[in-house]
Amino acid sequence: MSCGATNASQERLSLKEDLTCAICCDLFVDPVMLACMHHFCKACISTYWRSLRDPVTCPQCRQEFPTKQFQTNYLVAAMVEKVRARSADHQHLQKRLKDCLASHRLTKERYMGMIHKNEQKVLKIKRTGAELQGQIRSDFQALHCLLQEEEASTSEHLRREQEEILGELGRHLATLQGGLVEVEEKMHILQQTMDAMEQRYLLETPEVNFRLSVEVDQGPGIDISSFGAKYKGPLQYIVWRKMFKLLNPGPAPLTFDEETAHPSLCLCREKTSVVECDKMVAHKPSRKRFVQCINILGSQGFQSGRHYWEVGVGNKTKWDVGVALETVDRGVRVKLCPENGYWTLRLRNKTQYSAGTQPWTRLSLTSAPRIIGVFLDFKDRRVSFYNADTMLMLCSFNNGPNQKAFPFFSTCLSDQGRKPQPIRLVHFPLEPL
Ligand SMILES: [Zn+2]
Ligand SMILES: [Zn+2]
Repeated sequence: MSCGATNASQERLSLKEDLTCAICCDLFVDPVMLACMHHFCKACISTYWRSLRDPVTCPQCRQEFPTKQFQTNYLVAAMVEKVRARSADHQHLQKRLKDCLASHRLTKERYMGMIHKNEQKVLKIKRTGAELQGQIRSDFQALHCLLQEEEASTSEHLRREQEEILGELGRHLATLQGGLVEVEEKMHILQQTMDAMEQRYLLETPEVNFRLSVEVDQGPGIDISSFGAKYKGPLQYIVWRKMFKLLNPGPAPLTFDEETAHPSLCLCREKTSVVECDKMVAHKPSRKRFVQCINILGSQGFQSGRHYWEVGVGNKTKWDVGVALETVDRGVRVKLCPENGYWTLRLRNKTQYSAGTQPWTRLSLTSAPRIIGVFLDFKDRRVSFYNADTMLMLCSFNNGPNQKAFPFFSTCLSDQGRKPQPIRLVHFPLEPL
């Protein structure tokens, strides 16, 4: 097949050579034949002969002719036209083939690029999945360990308490049994003495030992109803409180940093509650203080590790809650977005929740959260928000801070005529009194 194709193309090539003018080296145009049977373009041979002085010759075989004579060869002309037309077809096809090949090459590169990207994604997802599986295992392991240890030690305490009481009761029982034997023996002797006295008149009064050698006391004052009282309480809650302290990260007991508070904000409840007040408070100028927006930071900053805290927003109709870089300019009014050093969740008009991106990313929540959980992870550069009542995640940023950042809050200006509502830091489960 390929051999046949090669032959055909070779034939085409030699035909093309045969139909090529030796003067212009191109396919004949108006081919003419000389007496020597050689062919040239009409124009080529005319020009050639014009350039010559005598004699008139064939430029190919040098044969001399008496006059400038040639003959139009219609057969060769028709063949030349055929070859020319076919050659144009070929060129067209070749161009199409070339274009198509180039376009397919691009498609191939695009597909290969996509395959590579997909493979990378698969690898990344598998790696992340494996890491998360490990983390889930270790997080649960820590809780299981605590529960197992607590269960074992509680059981052991109960067992020892029981053993101790049973030991005491056992010892008392043994003493009582010894006492019982002695009492019975003594009773027997006394009875015998009494019988003897009744049967015959005794000359001498017998000597009688009335006393018992051991007087057995009441024994340990054990109140059976109080046995195991410790284990009859809210056992699960007692253990859960211990577990709570182990949580990593568990809710951090934050306070507000008064030095950062906008002059319209007042703190109360041991700096765990902030509310907009009627009058502005006069402060010394400080670069730490927000002076344009009604904002405040938490007093504890973070720059590594994983942290979680809860913020009570109650029924407030607007607020911003999240994280801000230590370096944010407190003297200017800026849009709250990661590019400006803020990662926030916001509420406006009672029901409009958004993630603090530019433009805002609107969130459709099925219920209004009263307590917002904020999670900050430096390793993963993640800031996530939760409805702390249900622990449903509301939104999450994966371009979180990579330098020191603080918990951030804005009470927002309350609407005219409405009583300002506070934002509170929730110290769960130990609410400050
Ligand atoms: Zn020519
Ligand atoms: Zn010739």
